Amino acid sequence: MAPKPEPTVMEKIVSLCKRRGFVFQSSEIYGGLNSCWDYGPLGVELKRNVKDAWWRAVVQERDDVVGLDAAILMHPKVWEASGHLANFTDPLVDCKQCKLRHRADHMPGFDATKGLPPGTKCPNCGGELTEIRKFNLMFKTFMGAVEDSAATVYLRPETAQGIFVNFVNVQQATRKKLPFGIAQIGKAFRNEITPGNFTFRTREFEQMEIEYFVEPGTDEEWHRRWKADRMQWYLDLGMRKDRLQFREHGKDELAHYAKGCADIEYQFPFGWSELEGIANRTDFDLKQHTQYSGVQLTLFDEATKTHTVPYVIEPSAGADRSTLAFLVDAYDEEKDGDETRVLLRFHPRLAPIKVAVLPLVKKEGMPEKAMTIAKALRAAGITTGYDEGSAIGRRYRRFDEIGTPFAVTIDGDTLKDDTVTLRLRDTMEQTRVPAATIVDTIRERMNRMPR
Ligand code: ATP
Repeated sequence: MAPKPEPTVMEKIVSLCKRRGFVFQSSEIYGGLNSCWDYGPLGVELKRNVKDAWWRAVVQERDDVVGLDAAILMHPKVWEASGHLANFTDPLVDCKQCKLRHRADHMPGFDATKGLPPGTKCPNCGGELTEIRKFNLMFKTFMGAVEDSAATVYLRPETAQGIFVNFVNVQQATRKKLPFGIAQIGKAFRNEITPGNFTFRTREFEQMEIEYFVEPGTDEEWHRRWKADRMQWYLDLGMRKDRLQFREHGKDELAHYAKGCADIEYQFPFGWSELEGIANRTDFDLKQHTQYSGVQLTLFDEATKTHTVPYVIEPSAGADRSTLAFLVDAYDEEKDGDETRVLLRFHPRLAPIKVAVLPLVKKEGMPEKAMTIAKALRAAGITTGYDEGSAIGRRYRRFDEIGTPFAVTIDGDTLKDDTVTLRLRDTMEQTRVPAATIVDTIRERMNRMPR
């Protein structure tokens, strides 16, 4: 029998995610639902930390961006105005032989005007392909008790439109002047033809989007600034610089509304892929909604008595995709004697559990002391794990594997001089710290990598 091939990095990550409770397959007991995933106890913390870090950076730490949480279901006219009903399609081909479905624009030689080169065959089996068809990616459903076309509504394929239709509401409520932005985190749905690569491309996902409204003419400068700001965000959260790059869109691949677009890409084990798109959407959306709704989506300048339709810069990121990228980026294996140490080198701000509190042995009052320390850490808002189970080395490894940056060990000396051992995940370095200062010590280290 041939030896079993070594699992790939992605396979190892997917398996770790299931085993330790980051990500489970949706409806697994029924055989799963293709491309749908559930976040387990650690995954939900990780993804929340990613979203919180984003919200802090783009809303709470700035004076020029405010938040919004719009409904997923919107008036169907929204999608007519935005162009999604007519244009939010992918070119699709089916293989007549193996029946696999492919995105024509992901196949070699595809040209948006000419289609696929004559004679292109199925990349899976070499069979003959159908003509290209346009496939709309929006999920349809019905509102109320009647299932007819008058009751058709769509699950939003992007959160952005909730922002555009609220532009005047938000501006009037906040009295913001240009330039200012509106940010939103929320679910979006796309009936993707070829979902896959774990949580990278799914049909239900969360977006983190900013629409930043600027004076026409200043849009290119603001586009440059947002590109730089958004790249810096990933770096500040510890993502490796050599695995990040910009990719400028060519004119032929720009969305129907965009004047320019740059993607931030991450080097996943399956190749360079988009984490976030930063587009110059011009005044397209506000103009369209003005035309379709009859409501003027403009800003009136009292001094010059003129109406301005702002231009829009849109940094649009995926919460699930960036969570996956942070996971992949953090994954590491190290030789440790005869064994391999598996660890997730998360930035402390992203780590699902920040501190492990571990009594060296389960006696002599150590568990009680440890529980008091764990309680103090939790009261300070620091997510804390507690484990008094097996040998200390094994417990360290278990917390390394879920990316816990700090471990606090309570031992015989603690009971004598009230100090504890602080162990760092990345270097395994250990120092003695007074138990009374542990909350402050952890807080102080929270904003930098522990290595
Ligand atoms: P792609 O080319 O990968 O389909 P896109 O260019 O259509 O993506 P945008 O419309 O720019 O994506 O969406 C903004 C962000 O939303 C993406 O950068 C990505 O992080 C996230 N996103 C889009 N589609 C999906 C999906 N199917 N699954 C998970 N995240 C997604």
